[in-house]
Amino acid sequence: MTTQIDPRYTVAGSSWPLNDEQRRYIAMAEELGPTFAQRAERHDREAIFPTENYADMRQAGLLGLCVPKEHGGLGADLFTYALVSATLGKYCGATALTFNMHACSSLWPGLLTDALDLTPEQRTEHEARRAMHYARIVNEGAIYAQPFSEGTAAAAGRAPFGTTATRVDNGWLINGKKIFASLSGSANYYGVLCTENKDGATMRDSMYVAIPGDSSGLSIVGDWDPLGMRGTVSRNLIFDNVFVDDNAQLMPRGIYYQAASRWPHMFMTLSPTYMGIAIAAYQFTVRYLRGEIEGMGPPVKRRMFPTKQITVAQMQIILEQTRALFLRAFSEARVDPPKEVRLRAYAAQYTIMENANQLCQLAIRTCGGQSMLRSLPLERLYRDSRCGSLMLPWTAELCLDRIGREALYEHGETDD
Ligand SMILES: Cc1cc2nc3c(=O)[nH]c(=O)nc-3n(C[C@H](O)[C@H](O)[C@H](O)COP(=O)(O)OP(=O)(O)OC[C@H]3O[C@@H](n4cnc5c(N)ncnc54)[C@H](O)[C@@H]3O)c2cc1C
Repeated sequence: MTTQIDPRYTVAGSSWPLNDEQRRYIAMAEELGPTFAQRAERHDREAIFPTENYADMRQAGLLGLCVPKEHGGLGADLFTYALVSATLGKYCGATALTFNMHACSSLWPGLLTDALDLTPEQRTEHEARRAMHYARIVNEGAIYAQPFSEGTAAAAGRAPFGTTATRVDNGWLINGKKIFASLSGSANYYGVLCTENKDGATMRDSMYVAIPGDSSGLSIVGDWDPLGMRGTVSRNLIFDNVFVDDNAQLMPRGIYYQAASRWPHMFMTLSPTYMGIAIAAYQFTVRYLRGEIEGMGPPVKRRMFPTKQITVAQMQIILEQTRALFLRAFSEARVDPPKEVRLRAYAAQYTIMENANQLCQLAIRTCGGQSMLRSLPLERLYRDSRCGSLMLPWTAELCLDRIGREALYEHGETDD
């Protein structure tokens, strides 16, 4: 039986027009969430991957959330994904953030690619290949990671990926290094972005291939002991002549570049995690000040102090601003959006990532000293929230950069 959730603490509230499927998928995440929240402290403290949460999501069918229905999945679109991901984010940031990498591995080859220009031959070939990838997720419960960061301008979308794919008989040899590969050691497949190794290769020659986790030549290196999002276990990957066959392509050659140019919202998918964290910080604050949560001793009511009431009011205002932009921006995700929609997507990403952290700061300040004990979730929310605006390609800085430039220049305009 589904527990009744206070609509103030849901992602869409009580008045946003959700369809039946969205309600159902959100309810699935709400059902699992409280258990994830209980496990979160250990995953965070030990910096270990939430394997049990993935087993639960597999059991519930959530791993196939963004797999098209004709391939046996739940067929969620970008907006529905965002609602579910933000719901998970209320309970465990690391689970929601890694779920982003997994879900995008279905979304990008799915409805994103469907909306792009492919030749009939490419479409036929892609259909057969993605059927294979989707069957792994739906039938075998496979988990996909999405390592594209390399510590260079590539993940910022400003240079070709340094990891290369060299053509050989019946397939490709992958060489290179990825940093911050969330789900390292726990993913069954790594959806790697790389550049086709040929003379004069540019960003247009990007390839997106699924590399099995047990491939020969693939190694996972480096420590993982970060400030926040510790359960993501985002270690480094080395590819040393890793062979993959032609079917490993998650998108046809050249299509990733087209997607990146035409589907801006594909880079917003990390932000729902932080929308969830923002809601969790606010909910914690209200409950704590009402005297519903224990600190070092029995719960104490603190809600009668005017300064605390003012901070809660400020938090409510920031939360509503964030939620409004989140819902609007994701609900208008589409291929080739008009400029104002694209600018709003950047603004939404910036707002969610920055405000999640601001809400956590305000929460700790107004709840007070006992609220930052490690036995309570708030200090973890605070540390996890700090990571949001660092995530490429839409870091807070790069969002500002894009908004400023694109607001002042039309496509192709210069000052010469
Ligand atoms: C918890 C966590 C999990 C992550 N998981 C993944 C994952 O699963 N997959 C993945 O691919 N990545 C992941 N990342 C990496 C993330 O997306 C970024 O790539 C990473 O945080 C960048 O770190 P950096 O120190 O290289 O950043 P930066 O130095 O900020 O960026 C790297 C390069 O980008 C360019 N750049 C950055 N900022 C600007 C700017 N303002 N203007 C122009 N160019 C700029 C520069 O060339 C710079 O050298 C994760 C990060 C974290 C914190």
